[in-house]
Amino acid sequence: MNDLSFLNEMEKASGEKISGCYQCYRCTIGCPVVADMDLYPHRVIRYIVLGERERVLTSKTIWTCLQCVTCSVRCPNDIDIAHVFDALRKIAVKEQKEAETDTWKFDQYFMDSVKKHGRLHEIETVLRYKIEKKDFFGDAKMGMGMFIKGRMGILPHNIKDRKGLKEMFKRLEDKKIGG
Ligand code: SF4
Ligand code: SF4
Repeated sequence: MNDLSFLNEMEKASGEKISGCYQCYRCTIGCPVVADMDLYPHRVIRYIVLGERERVLTSKTIWTCLQCVTCSVRCPNDIDIAHVFDALRKIAVKEQKEAETDTWKFDQYFMDSVKKHGRLHEIETVLRYKIEKKDFFGDAKMGMGMFIKGRMGILPHNIKDRKGLKEMFKRLEDKKIGG
């Protein structure tokens, strides 16, 4: 008999009714980065149901995912697949099984910036990431283009309600939303 413990674990971690999936492939068909994935999104969902814990947690797919939620809105069973992938990332990191660490690091720097300023301060985030990676010239041309077009400001644009922002993050941390 199929071991349902991983399915139960993931339904609890994500709050999504993963067992409702009937493998229609709509998630995979709509995914913009499916060509770069080692497991198609509908397959990840299937492997969760089948209890293939290691295969799913060590897959590159959960890190290739852009969290664009196209799959989630296309799912006829209202499964928020992007949210399932996010929950998988958290477990993979906790158990040190992540197939790559760059996305997670960038996510952390992104959220640090939003927490601090109320919105993303692009230059600060990118510089932190570049220093961590010791890669200063990899995307220099693209970065310069964005800077010239005014897409990246030198100074952060802090929101006014910093107190409200702090409270909101505290509420999220207390509830462990997404965790
Ligand atoms: S779109 Fe939903 S029901 Fe269809 S395969 Fe993907 S997760 Fe399953
Ligand atoms: S959220 Fe991820 S898996 Fe879903 S369509 Fe977007 S990139 Fe693909």
